[in-house]
Amino acid sequence: MKLERFCVTDSEVICLDCWAFRKHFQHEVLNVQEAAEEFKAQLQKSVIKLQTLIEKCNAAKRKLEGLLEDTFFYLAI
Ligand SMILES: [Zn+2]
Repeated sequence: MKLERFCVTDSEVICLDCWAFRKHFQHEVLNVQEAAEEFKAQLQKSVIKLQTLIEKCNAAKRKLEGLLEDTFFYLAI
């Protein structure tokens, strides 16, 4: 059987027969290409969120390093 559909309800790839006549009847089903595009879009959103988080962490790290340098500077006087 050629797997041509993706059942969103069960998160699995299914064949047309399973979709039409078996347990996936009435489940939310996409064609495989649509599902791939949807997951790709979700993945891109996650990557952007992650990049934003990394930038925030790096900014916080730079700030802490600056504070640490200042502290050592004053302690050395
Ligand atoms: Zn299903």
